[in-house]
Order: sequence, then structure tokens, then C-alpha cells
Amino acid sequence: MFENLSERLERSFKLLKGQGKITEINVAETLKDVRRALLDADVNYKVAKQFTDTVKTKALGRDVLNAVKPNEMMVKIVHDELTELMGGETAQINVQGQPAVILMSGLQGSGKTTFSGKLARKLKSEKAKRPLLVACDVYRPAAIDQLKVLGEQIEVPVYTEEGNRNPVEIASNAIQYARQNHFDLVIVDTAGRLAVDEEMMDEIEAIKKAVKPQETLFVVDAMTGQDAVNTAKEFNDRLDFDGVVLTKLDGDTRGGAALSIRTVVTKPIKFVGTGEKLDALDYFHPARMADRILGMGDIVSLVEKAQKAIDEKEARELQKKIAKNQFNLEDFMAQIQQIKKMGNIKDLASMIPGVGKMIKDIDIDDNAFKGVEAIISSMTRYERQHPEIINGSRRQRIAKGSGTTVQEVNRLLKQFDDTRKMMKAATSMKNPMKMMRQMR
Ligand code: GDP
Repeated sequence: MFENLSERLERSFKLLKGQGKITEINVAETLKDVRRALLDADVNYKVAKQFTDTVKTKALGRDVLNAVKPNEMMVKIVHDELTELMGGETAQINVQGQPAVILMSGLQGSGKTTFSGKLARKLKSEKAKRPLLVACDVYRPAAIDQLKVLGEQIEVPVYTEEGNRNPVEIASNAIQYARQNHFDLVIVDTAGRLAVDEEMMDEIEAIKKAVKPQETLFVVDAMTGQDAVNTAKEFNDRLDFDGVVLTKLDGDTRGGAALSIRTVVTKPIKFVGTGEKLDALDYFHPARMADRILGMGDIVSLVEKAQKAIDEKEARELQKKIAKNQFNLEDFMAQIQQIKKMGNIKDLASMIPGVGKMIKDIDIDDNAFKGVEAIISSMTRYERQHPEIINGSRRQRIAKGSGTTVQEVNRLLKQFDDTRKMMKAATSMKNPMKMMRQMR
């Protein structure tokens, strides 16, 4: 699922690799590529444009955090926007009512009948519901039989009225029947057509009016891409449905429907069908779907951790200090604390793709900074702010106080001095992880 899109996006982000910061130019280049990837995945043209415009504004308006690289930041921004595009939060289904009524709509072959069975099964086991399935497809006897077979498999009764050609009547009678027989959930499967036609729309509209469902769901085959979005729009204009069910996501779908529907019809995707079997049904979680599309969940959580740990204002102050060559051992200590706040350093580093394997056998952990911290802690405040005054006798005192040796103190001061020079030269703040490595 979405493999092609995932690969294409990954390639787009590579354009930012090695870039020191996010600029108008490199963002434009990357996003042009992202847009092309989205269009190739059959995402609606307007949706793709709006998407990349938003990402651009966010990327340019945000300072790149010290601990992450521009391409990583971009992955995170795109991830968050993809999540938004698909609705942000996971949408709930309303099953309150005595009975609660759920009405299915959609074209023939979209997966309505299968979904009706899957949903009955799910709500029966997860929410202890007593469902009744209703067969309203009076045109295709085979559809009624199909629902009966499904009902038997999941042990849910199916309401049918042989000979009755009026689906509105059947649906209304079914609800009556459900009330009398203590069913608390009625799932009404309706007739579809191969394409949208007036008669079908009139019929489903009439059923909706008659049964006043808690939820009207529009079921659509994800494989049909842009067509799925257009059909969704037509159904929504007539039915004002409550949510979308995307079926056949297990197939070779390019992703266009999943990414465009929400924006075009402003209704959430509530469920996704992921197979022909009756347990192949999931709630739709936008953030998890974005993870899958990007296939870079690791980077996203890395950036999230860094964002939590690092106060951006503080980072800006620091940058100013470095530019003025005022970066001192106190700031350095604060940087160490921040890195430590991010959690186990090895864990953190191993989240970076490719690095995990490399550092597997290397011993870096939070203790890596212990000696450095002890040395800095043994200095006076004035010494930390003015390392240049630390002479021989001060070094001896610091070594003693920190339980280290004069050589270790010397080494730290020398490395600190080198780093400061290097940072000054680079003017802009370098990745503190890298800086730490050089200090060791
Ligand atoms: P309806 O005409 O809308 O009621 O559609 P059906 O429920 O009869 O489904 C049409 C076909 O799609 C059937 O062969 C189903 O087995 C298949 N189908 C439904 N949902 C899924 C799904 O999530 N994944 C896959 N692979 N097939 C599905």
C-alpha cells in the first residue's frame, strides 16, 4: 500500500540532505518534488497544491532545531500536514440510539455488503452490540444471499422481505422489528449502481429520510483514486453523509483517495477495509496512516523528542552568543543537560536511519558526559564564564574536586576552545550531537 508514494517522498527529502538550513530555494525544490509525488499518487490537484503551500509556509516559518537536520525537520512537517490532510484526529462512530441505525451508501462493488458484515462483527465484539443486518437491495437477489451468508458466518441475524420491492418500506419495517426484538444496532445495506444515477440517489435519500440514521457512511473502493473522490462528492452533495469507509486498502492503491477525500468533501474517513476476510477492518488513524505513507516514523519521533527537549528561544540566545564568541562552559553544560533530557543518547542516535547499525557495539550512553560534567561542576561560576583564566593551579584544584586528572581537565579545555573556534567559524549553531562527539 502506498509504496510508490513512500519511495517518491523519501527521494524528495533527500534533496535536503546535507543542507545546513532550510531556505526558500531548497524548500521550493523539495516541495516541487513532493507535489509531483502526490500527483502521481493520484492526489487531487488542488489538494496537492494547497498541501505543499502549507508545508512551505511552515518550513520557512520555523527555526530548524539544533538537534535535527533540515531534511529531518521537513519529514516531520510533512508528516504532521499529511495527518491534518487526512483529518487529524481519529473519527468516532456514533452508535448511540435504541436502536442506533447505520446506513450504507456507495456504488456497486465498492464493498458495502462486505463492510456491513465486518462492522456488525466489530461492534458486536468490541461494543457488545446486538446488531441486525438489513438487506435492502431489491434488484439483485444475489446481494441478499451474500448478506445472509455473511450474517451466518458472524452469527448476526439478517432482516429480509422477500417479494417486497420497496427498499424504504423494508428499512422502516426492519427498524420496527429491531425495536420489538431488542436489537440495539441496525445496519442497513442498500443497492448500489455501477455509476451514480438519479434513481439510486433518490432511493437512498428516501431511505435516509425514513430511517433517520445516526450514521450514514459512504463506502468507496480506494483503488479507484480520483474517481473515488468525485463519487464521494456526488454522494455527499445529495446525502450529506457522516463519514467515509475506504475499502481495498490492501490492494495496490496509490493513496490518492485516502489523501484527497477529507479535503474535498470535508467528511472524515472512519474505517478502512484491508482484505476480503471479515476481520480485515480497522478504524482510520490519520497519524498512523501518515507514518505508513512516509515510512519514516523513526525520524518523526526523533524530531518530536528534540522539540520537547529544546527550548527554541534558548537556542536562539545561544546562537547569538556563539556569533559573538561568548559561548562559555556554562552554556556548554546547559547543552549537555538538554541532550540528556532527550533520553538515552544511544537510543536517540539509533533512531537516525543508518546510524543504528553503526553504533550497535559502541559504548555511548548517558555516562559519556559524566567526566565532562564533573569537571565543569568543579569550576567556579566565574571560571565557567571565563575559561581563559583557568591557569595551572586552578586546573589542579578542578581535577581534584572532580575526581579526574589534570590531563583530563586540560583535554576538556583544549577541546572546548577548539569547538568554540569551530562554532564561531560556522557562525550558525551546529548540531550539538556532532559537537559533543568532537568533545569526546
Ligand atoms: P457491494 O456491491 O458494494 O456490496 O460490494 P461487495 O461487498 O460485494 O464487495 C465487492 C468485492 O470487493 C467482493 O469481492 C469483496 O470480497 C471485495 N472486497 C470488499 N472489501 C474489500 C477489502 O477491504 N479488500 C479486498 N481486497 N477486497 C474487498
